[in-house]
Amino acid sequence: MRIEDGVKLDFNSVLIRPKRSTLRSRKDVDITREFIFKWSRRSYKGVPIIAANMDGVGTFAMAKAFIENGSKMSVAVHKHYPLKDLTTFYDEHSSENLWYSIGMVKDDQEKLENFLKERPNTLDKICVDVANGYSEHFVDFVKRIREEAQDVTIMAGNVVTGEMVEELILAGVDIVKVGIGPGSVCTTRKMTGVGYPQLSAIIECADAAHGLGGLICADGGCSSPGDIAKAFGAGADFVMLGGMLAGHDQSELEIIEKDGEKYICFYGMSSDTAMIKHKGGVAEYRTSEGKTVSIPYLGDVSGTLQDILGGIRSACTYVGARHLKELPKRTTFVRVT
Ligand code: 5GP
Repeated sequence: MRIEDGVKLDFNSVLIRPKRSTLRSRKDVDITREFIFKWSRRSYKGVPIIAANMDGVGTFAMAKAFIENGSKMSVAVHKHYPLKDLTTFYDEHSSENLWYSIGMVKDDQEKLENFLKERPNTLDKICVDVANGYSEHFVDFVKRIREEAQDVTIMAGNVVTGEMVEELILAGVDIVKVGIGPGSVCTTRKMTGVGYPQLSAIIECADAAHGLGGLICADGGCSSPGDIAKAFGAGADFVMLGGMLAGHDQSELEIIEKDGEKYICFYGMSSDTAMIKHKGGVAEYRTSEGKTVSIPYLGDVSGTLQDILGGIRSACTYVGARHLKELPKRTTFVRVT
C-alpha cells in the first residue's frame, strides 16, 4: 500500500482569481477553438463543449437544438438509437457537430461496421466510451479502430492519470476523455472507492496530452458555468456535460407531473434504470455504478445554453482572455477549501 500525499483539487476547491483586463464586454470574447487533431489530421472549429452520450442528453433533439441555436457546441449521440435512425439523422444533418458513440460490446461494433458499410465516408468523429479506460483490452480496441479508420477523429476514455493519457494517445486517440467518478449520476466512488478529484485530473492529464500533441476532454462533475470555466482554465480542450443539459425538452424522456411540478427522470448509463431499459436487466457480475434521480423540468435548452456560454465569456472577461485558448495561461486558481 502507498499513500499519495500531494493535494488534489476538485472544482469546488478553487476559484479563479480576477486579473487586469482590457476587455470592455463579454461580447469581445471569442469562445470558439480551432484544432487540427493529431491522428485524423482533421480540423475542428467550434465551441468545445459536448453534450454527453447519455439518454436524456446526447439526443437527436439536442443536436437539432444546438444547430438551430447556432451554439457551435456538439453532441455525442447516445449509442442506443437503432442503425436506421442514425443513418437517417446523419443523412439529414451535417456531421460537423456530431460524435458517433460506441462502447466495447459486440453489438456496438457490429452497428458501427454496418454504419460504415451503408454510409462510407460519413463518419468523421467517434467517441469510444468505457467506464474504465485502464484495461489493455481497451487500448488494443482503440488501436484497431485507428488502423481501420485512419482519418476519423477518435475521442476515447475514461482515465484520470497522465501515464494512461500518454498510452492512449500513442495508441491513436486524438482526444482522451478524463474523469472517473465525478459525474452527477455516477456512484463509482461510492461503490468502488475508486476515483480522482476532477480538477487535478484535468490539470495533470492536459499536461500529459499536450506534451504529445494530443488533447483532452474533461468529462463529468460540472454543475455550473463556473465549473466549465474552471475546467477550461485548468487546461481542458473540450468539456463534456451530462446533468447540466438534462431535464430539457430535448431530453426525449417522459415529463412527469407531481404535485403541480414537472420533473424528468435522469439516470446514469450504468444505473439499474439504464440497464433494464437497454439490456433487459442488471448482469449478475456487475454492480450498478449509476443512480436515478428526478430533476426539475427546465423547458427548452436554449436558456441553459445562454447561461453556459455567457458564463464562460464572462470568466474570460474577468481574467482578460480575449480568446478561450488564452484562458489557461491567464488562470490563477485560489484555493478555498
Ligand atoms: P455530469 O456532467 O452529469 O456530471 O457527468 C456526465 C458524465 O458522467 C458522462 O459523460 C459519463 O462519463 C459519466 N456517467 C454517465 N452515466 C454514468 C454512470 O451510470 N456511472 C458512472 N460511473 N458514470 C456515468
